[in-house]
Amino acid sequence: MLENGFSEAVQLLVRPEVVRLPLYDPGADPDAVASEFGLVRVVKLSNNENPYGISPYAAQALERCLAQGLGRYPDPVGKDLCGVLARRYGVASKRIILGNGSENILELLCQTFLSPGDLVVTQSPCFGLHEIFPLMMGAKVVKVPLITGFECDVSAWHKAFARTVKLIFISNPSNPVGTVFSWRELEAIVRASPADCLVVIDEAYYEYAIDDLSYPDALEVLRTQNRPWIVLRTFSKAYGLASLRVGYGVASHANLIDALHRVRAPYNVNQLAQEAAVAALEDMVHLKKSVALVSQERARLTAVLRKLGFCVAPSLANFLFIDTGTDASLVVQALRREGVIVKAWPEPGYDTFIRASLSLPEDNDIFLHALSRVPCLALGLHM
Ligand SMILES: *Cc1c(COP(=O)(O)O)cnc(C)c1O
Repeated sequence: MLENGFSEAVQLLVRPEVVRLPLYDPGADPDAVASEFGLVRVVKLSNNENPYGISPYAAQALERCLAQGLGRYPDPVGKDLCGVLARRYGVASKRIILGNGSENILELLCQTFLSPGDLVVTQSPCFGLHEIFPLMMGAKVVKVPLITGFECDVSAWHKAFARTVKLIFISNPSNPVGTVFSWRELEAIVRASPADCLVVIDEAYYEYAIDDLSYPDALEVLRTQNRPWIVLRTFSKAYGLASLRVGYGVASHANLIDALHRVRAPYNVNQLAQEAAVAALEDMVHLKKSVALVSQERARLTAVLRKLGFCVAPSLANFLFIDTGTDASLVVQALRREGVIVKAWPEPGYDTFIRASLSLPEDNDIFLHALSRVPCLALGLHM
């Protein structure tokens, strides 16, 4: 076995990009944590999931699918779901693509547009796959740091554009920080970027942010930009369909989508996911309830944590990015022992931060209580 875990035979077979590729961290497995520490209840706050799960409308759609039998291949382009989305956004269906989660579209974008040596610009800290998928294609990733106070550094983005850039990834709200690029910042960055590069705005947390006046809808910002762009959204977060794997992209031009269709696997989105997503889009009550829970708990937890002395980034997503002031990997380990799973963020400058998803009030309280019991934080007296 070699240092990266490959046998020599495998090492000789894999592409050089893959030999060096970091492994995506999906967070700890709740069953494994429960059995390791002998716990009955484990609270998973590592994947930004919706604690309410799927809408009852989506559940009915799944039952209808099941009753029809699942013996046939799904619709290869998802025309019903694309049609509903097209009407909602007032764009042609041909400008929309579905993915097996929006991660699948991130992957397709990299496979379709990136060659070895191409340059990708994103923000630091960033969503793991905004770096891993470009590296997989042999591209280089430049990460633009935040200014202290979690502010976007527009002039640093300008500087990054001095080189030939192929693609830019912006997650808005940002994962892992939860902060947003304002309309002005987003527009300034897009305008400053080379006109021939592909702008990818990943709005996985769009539904949680859109009611806030500071948050720009990227489809609105980009509507008038005559250049290649794509906006990604997902059913995994606010719609609660994470397990089904379905996301979508709305692009500037139909032929950008055509290019992605050549690369994707023909039946990448299963029928259950397609039909559940159509039904989920109709259930405004479930969506509103899910978003309301997050905005209430976001305000509550942010206030409690700040009172305890933590620095917490102002979030418009369904998670908080928290500076623990100490080695975050130790905090994560100690929280696991208490039955709470969160993620550390081992990127330069952020090794004291954890990202914790917002969940039901009782689960969030378990997280707060568990934090108070972490020895290296010594908060016990204040709780
Ligand atoms: C969660 C997340 C996604 C992945 O969503 P799926 O649709 O489940 O693949 C994409 N981008 C960001 C920034 C995310 O946080």
